Amino acid sequence: MITGNSEFEGQMDMLFVALIVLICAICVTFVIRNRRRARRRLAEIARRGGSLCPRCGRYVSPGAQACRHCLTPVQMATARQ
Ligand SMILES: [Zn+2]
Repeated sequence: MITGNSEFEGQMDMLFVALIVLICAICVTFVIRNRRRARRRLAEIARRGGSLCPRCGRYVSPGAQACRHCLTPVQMATARQ
């Protein structure tokens, strides 16, 4: 069999391009999801009160003393207790 290396290299090129496209797709998906999440968080804050965790940026419910995701104490900007 004399197929040579060119075919193999072509396949490797295809694989490489596919990998780059896959990585780009994952990045774009990640960014879009993050944006969507941030928007949802802001909407939640506007509706229910509460705040964002200063450390991990997640939603902290109004009555919470600390972020339940990373346990960072949260200053109550909207103290309503
Ligand atoms: Zn947190």
